[in-house]
Amino acid sequence: MPGRPLTLDEIVQGGLCMGCGLCAAVAAPERVAMVMTPEGRLRPVPREPLDAATDARINAVCPGVTVQGPDPADAALEAETDDIWGPADEVVIAHASDPDVRYRAASGGILTALGQHLVATGAVDFVLHVGAAQGAPMRSEARVDADPDGVLAGASSRYGPSTPLHDITQLLDRGRPFAVIGKPCDITGVRNLQRQDPRARELIRYALALVCGGMSDLTKSQGVLDDHGMRESELSLFRYRGHGNPGPLRAETEDGRAVEIGYNAMWGDEVGWALQPRCKICPDAIGEVADIAAADCWPGGGPSGEDAGFNAVLVRTARGRELFDAALRADAVTIDRASSVREMDDFQPHQVRKKNAVRARYIGMAAAGLPVPATPGLRTVKLAKQQPLSFLLTEARAARRRAKTGRLGEPPARLDRVWQST
Ligand SMILES: Cc1cc2nc3c(=O)[nH]c(=O)nc-3n(C[C@H](O)[C@H](O)[C@H](O)COP(=O)(O)OP(=O)(O)OC[C@H]3O[C@@H](n4cnc5c(N)ncnc54)[C@H](O)[C@@H]3O)c2cc1C
Ligand code: SF4
Ligand code: SF4
Repeated sequence: MPGRPLTLDEIVQGGLCMGCGLCAAVAAPERVAMVMTPEGRLRPVPREPLDAATDARINAVCPGVTVQGPDPADAALEAETDDIWGPADEVVIAHASDPDVRYRAASGGILTALGQHLVATGAVDFVLHVGAAQGAPMRSEARVDADPDGVLAGASSRYGPSTPLHDITQLLDRGRPFAVIGKPCDITGVRNLQRQDPRARELIRYALALVCGGMSDLTKSQGVLDDHGMRESELSLFRYRGHGNPGPLRAETEDGRAVEIGYNAMWGDEVGWALQPRCKICPDAIGEVADIAAADCWPGGGPSGEDAGFNAVLVRTARGRELFDAALRADAVTIDRASSVREMDDFQPHQVRKKNAVRARYIGMAAAGLPVPATPGLRTVKLAKQQPLSFLLTEARAARRRAKTGRLGEPPARLDRVWQST
């Protein structure tokens, strides 16, 4: 890393950006645009040269640059910290009590049920999360929902790019309490912001995360259209999963054509996920800094069929504990049984592999001249020391090779180099 803040170009070309939009919020959207690159990634582009002070502000909040672990002061009273899974007061298998929420949501609907509970009880005024973009359902955009029906409309996973934190400054300007539901990196951005901005600390009352295997380039979604003779401009629906657990990907066109692709056909093989470079080196894809994290809970890591919808839920902080208990009392969520972090290893083998490998990957990236994120409090060095040397060498060499061949970095983002819609 240079002995100064990274510029936005360096963050993007170094492969550290995942497109949350927080830099645009901090620098002001008039100064930083978010563009969809030809690679199918939302990336920031300065509209004017940014001064060193702005670069420093961006570095402090950017979840590509700074990925800080949980603050022990936030932990639930009885939380224990597992080297892989981070802090958890309790791990349970659970689902949304409302059958409609459970059906429409990604897994068991826990995140939607908690978001609905927060707005229904007035604990927060609104929930910031993500849903299908209005008029462009293959794309995803931030949603701000102040009622339970709105929160439900944003249910389910959106595997492509989105900029959930782009408008967070305007939301803070409202001066009202709110919750954020997002990917772990989005929640890292929220926590970074809270360390810099007392308003964010006061007003963002709850931060809930989905456990995340990585975000696909929009090319992955476009591939579905190309394979089935559809154009993006014709779409009336593009749902990545949900309506069952996991539920199929479903695309519909205005003229009545429809295609469904099963979860395993879409996502069965990690090699075909078209993951963004940042995701391959993600030090916290499991929502360590969230109040509550929700995951899939298929034994062995993948679904063997459809089921009624279940989440593995990690209750992490004191605030998460209070929220989950209140949602249980209100019958918004139902616990099926106790689980454990060791069972999480079985549900999420790809997360275990990545967490163990990430430090070696950074060594390989650094050897190839790429910047690496700072990851205090995430135990990446401790975990690396527990791995066989052969594993670490393989991971570090592969990362160096990928970095040198451009697969861990990215082309520059520019205002005149953008995605062409079909
Ligand atoms: C990119 C991605 C990768 C995933 N990888 C894994 C994985 O490796 N392991 C695993 O167990 N589960 C993974 N999931 C699924 C996710 O874990 C489930 O959404 C989670 O189990 C929560 O289920 P739920 O039924 O409670 O969610 P829901 O009740 O359906 O709520 C989902 C919430 O997440 C928000 N959301 C959806 N997509 C995005 C997005 N792209 N950015 C920000 N917010 C979003 C929605 O707005 C909604 O509020 C992934 C999801 C995504 C989007
Ligand atoms: S990760 Fe977010 S804050 Fe960092 S450069 Fe990308 S869009 Fe900006
Ligand atoms: S893998 Fe990490 S960087 Fe990628 S979308 Fe998930 S949480 Fe964000």
